[in-house]
Amino acid sequence: MKRTYKYLLIIISIVFSMQTLATQINRVSAIRVWADPDKTRIVMDVNSNIKHKIFKLKSPNRLVIDLKDTKIKRSVISQSNNNKGLLKGIRGAAKKDGYRVVLDLKKNLKVSSFFLKPNKKYGNRLVIDLFANSKSTTEKMVVKSTKSIKTKKDFVIIIDPGHGGEDPGAIGPKKTREKDVVLATAKKLAKKINAAKGFKAYLTRDGDYYISLRKRINLARKKQADLFISLHADAFRNSKVKGASVYTLSQRGASSEAAKWLASKENSSDLVGGVSLNDKDDVLASVLLSLSQTGTNNASKKLGNIIFKELGKKVILHNNKVENAGFVVLKAPDIPSILIELGYISNPKEEKNLKNSKHQNKLAVAINNGIKKYYDEYSKTALLRKTPAYPNKNNKNKKHTVSKGETLSLIAKKYNTSIDKIIKVNDLQDSQIRAGEKLVIPM
Ligand SMILES: [Zn+2]
Repeated sequence: MKRTYKYLLIIISIVFSMQTLATQINRVSAIRVWADPDKTRIVMDVNSNIKHKIFKLKSPNRLVIDLKDTKIKRSVISQSNNNKGLLKGIRGAAKKDGYRVVLDLKKNLKVSSFFLKPNKKYGNRLVIDLFANSKSTTEKMVVKSTKSIKTKKDFVIIIDPGHGGEDPGAIGPKKTREKDVVLATAKKLAKKINAAKGFKAYLTRDGDYYISLRKRINLARKKQADLFISLHADAFRNSKVKGASVYTLSQRGASSEAAKWLASKENSSDLVGGVSLNDKDDVLASVLLSLSQTGTNNASKKLGNIIFKELGKKVILHNNKVENAGFVVLKAPDIPSILIELGYISNPKEEKNLKNSKHQNKLAVAINNGIKKYYDEYSKTALLRKTPAYPNKNNKNKKHTVSKGETLSLIAKKYNTSIDKIIKVNDLQDSQIRAGEKLVIPM
């Protein structure tokens, strides 16, 4: 009798544990919405890879996300600030087998979803991206600006505030986020640059959202940038470490292995949706890499030195000279590029400074002075780009559609040009081409 009872207990407990395994409850602890000019990103904090189904419904346009075996607190759904970008609002209701989240959309949209792994700030996340179907406003703006270039080209500076959205960058002891202080400083800098005639600054982002690597580079190309300046803030274990730094890129230590590593990094950066893989700004360094080229190394160094000197007049410097990031330089248009670490956010005093509007202004003044000095010193030399290094609709380049079996060297011979020129003008990664591919032939 006792024995049977024991067996029964075991069987009951097995059945019970199977039951609990099967109905393990997932939870969504927070929902965040990030809107940039091209897409709206909805991020849900989840405790595991939730099984989910996503489908669109029309009139009114909405997106339904059915989350299996999931519970969500009412307060998580009923946030007031969900009317952002392409999103009108978020609703939700419990179902028999889980939870249904309904996203009310402003129009019919393209949608994609994926999971994000934990970073320094957040755990597992389910991400839903909403894309506007029509051409974005940024693209429309570009058409306008290329027209004005024909008459007289402004000196164009791309300012790239690091990180954004789900990627906070480094975080200070008082929880100050790198993404916020670099954006605030970037906005002040852009304002100062744009106040001078003949100078035009563009920001890679002007809000709290993440911009993919590809888009940062594309913006620089489309705007026919003369300079590219990435803004960041450093962090280190030792909270006493302090000072601003300026980085340029060097070819020293370059190897094909490093090139491969970098290429894989670059490609993966879009997949991880703006989550840096470690504390270093590898992803952003690779933006600089693909923008700067051997020919502009010199120009980048001059720019770096001048801005470094100007910064030294206003704030504490970390080092006594411009530093090199030892990476390989990729093939791309020539844009002198530098990365500025505005200070150490991990140092309590510098964290306070970086947040301070007056200090941000100081930094912006120093960088702006540097840009103007660079322009004055080098506007009459070859260091400044006179013609864009990428295809331009206004010049006499020819178009060629690659036919089967054709190689770059055959095409180069046919048009009496060089393989290198074709690679450069089309921004090809290597000499591999495919049938049907359309190439611009530099004449
Ligand atoms: Zn950074």
